[in-house]
Amino acid sequence: HLSKRLAQVAEFVPQGARMADIGSDHAYLPAALVLAGKIPMAVAGEVAAGPYQNMENEIRANGLTGQIVPRLANGLAAIKPADHIDTVVIAGMGGTLIADILDQGQDQLAGVKRLILQPNVGEFRLRAWLLAHRYQIMAERLVKEDDHIYEIIVAEPSLVPFSYSDYELMFGPLLLEKKGPVFTEKWQDYLHRQAGVLDQISGAKQPPRDKIKQLQGRMRLVKEALN
Ligand code: SAM
Repeated sequence: HLSKRLAQVAEFVPQGARMADIGSDHAYLPAALVLAGKIPMAVAGEVAAGPYQNMENEIRANGLTGQIVPRLANGLAAIKPADHIDTVVIAGMGGTLIADILDQGQDQLAGVKRLILQPNVGEFRLRAWLLAHRYQIMAERLVKEDDHIYEIIVAEPSLVPFSYSDYELMFGPLLLEKKGPVFTEKWQDYLHRQAGVLDQISGAKQPPRDKIKQLQGRMRLVKEALN
């Protein structure tokens, strides 16, 4: 049984995909997808020994040995050419780390047709990486679970020219088209937090003017997006 967040990630995995789940921890996502018969196999990558052990246990407990291949590796180094991976999932990390993993693994991305990414923070940086490397955003979702709002970004390599403004990189080009209650909640929370930061730094003995200006500028953008 997947969390609401991972269930939404799973929905974006194409039927029959050859998937690599990078930073898989318990391998819950690949296990659920293979058990459901949606995908035939998966590579589950982990950089840390504890989570790698969790994956091995989960794979064995579900009788998925051979169908889910656990690999102890940094980022996309978990993927080998013979795997013929076409779908890569990286979920539950910061957007900057996800962008770094993609950046360092560009060789392994050669045959990959879809990236399904779930940054916990730092979405701007991640979208900027996608734009710079010509991955077009095909879908975006906000998922609210246990008082957290998670962002999911689906991207595919594009041969046609496209671009995103800084405004779109910040809020998500497709999320901006739909907005909706969770979008409003996410950015109202953000405004609330930033207002607190602004209060704090404005009250300092020597208020940092540049930082205050930058913060005010960003808050103005958010208010605009919420209109
Ligand atoms: N993907 C799962 C999910 O979304 O529920 C687990 C997320 S867990 C919070 C993040 C996992 O990423 C950790 O187990 C961590 O060890 C792993 N990780 C962090 N950096 C990594 C890297 N460079 N390569 C592979 N795994 C990494």
